[in-house]
Amino acid sequence: MERILVSACLMGQRVRYDGGAKTSSDELLAAWKAEGRLVPFCAEVEGGGLPVPRPAAEIESGAGGAAVIAGAARVLTTGGDDVTAAFLSGAQAALAVATSFGVRVAIPKEGSPSCGALNIYDGTFRGRRTPGQGVTTALLELHGIKVFTEEHIADAAAYLRDLDR
Ligand code: SF4
Repeated sequence: MERILVSACLMGQRVRYDGGAKTSSDELLAAWKAEGRLVPFCAEVEGGGLPVPRPAAEIESGAGGAAVIAGAARVLTTGGDDVTAAFLSGAQAALAVATSFGVRVAIPKEGSPSCGALNIYDGTFRGRRTPGQGVTTALLELHGIKVFTEEHIADAAAYLRDLDR
């Protein structure tokens, strides 16, 4: 049975920077949870050791996770603190968990500087999104894990059906 790495906040865990969750009501996620397929993980808290709550953070210039991994961009908080190391540790921990479960599919929370899949915030802390990926999502994709945003779970289901054949 294919396991699926999923952002912990989508599964109701209160691990977001503001102390909340982003619980998904998606029926496919619920079904996969019942099947025992899901591997919930929070890169920033479980991997990066960051607290709840914590200051909001964005990738500078909205450069994207691949630039952070390459050392070409930092992750900064609203107060200007450099939390790049924690985000990189979180991404590595997420990859290690995914690898340990043989994960080939991930469903991350859109918009996050760790988990964003199609877009992230642009680094200005003005609530503006820009195309790009979070640090964890970029690392997972670099290692061949297929990522589907929580807005495209039906596409993940179709991909899983192909893997299960
Ligand atoms: Fe959710 Fe990912 Fe942010 Fe953790 S790092 S709170 S799992 S979006």
